[in-house]
Amino acid sequence: MGKVGNIDVITTSTSFISDLIKKTPAQHIINWGRKNSLWFLTQPMGCCGVEMIATGCAHYDTDRFGIIPRCSPRQADVMVISGYVTKKYLPALMRLWEQMPSPKWAIMMGDCAISGGPFFQSYSTVKNIEDHIPIDVFIPGCPPRPEALIQGFIELQKKIMARTDIGTDYED
Ligand code: SF4
Repeated sequence: MGKVGNIDVITTSTSFISDLIKKTPAQHIINWGRKNSLWFLTQPMGCCGVEMIATGCAHYDTDRFGIIPRCSPRQADVMVISGYVTKKYLPALMRLWEQMPSPKWAIMMGDCAISGGPFFQSYSTVKNIEDHIPIDVFIPGCPPRPEALIQGFIELQKKIMARTDIGTDYED
């Protein structure tokens, strides 16, 4: 900490950063990097998808947390399942999931995604998506607001920081 006039200024130096890296376990640095670059795939499925898109727009500005919308699964770390998944759509969803590089995470957003919501017991809706994709965070609501989705990302960040392995979760 230094002073410029009456203002306190926090300064750092390359030797400080070098010392910090030497004293911090590699696992912690890797987790920190991963939690601060959660790029999510934009594939809105139902009305919850509109809230997901709104979360990535200017008003909520999730870019400041490193939570950035991406249009390609090959550049995405997080899949937000944002609405009902029909049996007809499931193969396409699985293909997108498989195209995402590891490590990757999935957030279930809204009642439709979690249990079918108003489409519960419909002939065409998949009820147990977690049988197909491992889900990290569930966000109930119809629809959950952008603040709820941001809270979901925060819970995911806590989960990533608690990791004790640096490997990938899934086989590529
Ligand atoms: S949970 Fe509600 S808002 Fe979300 S996709 Fe289903 S009906 Fe639409």
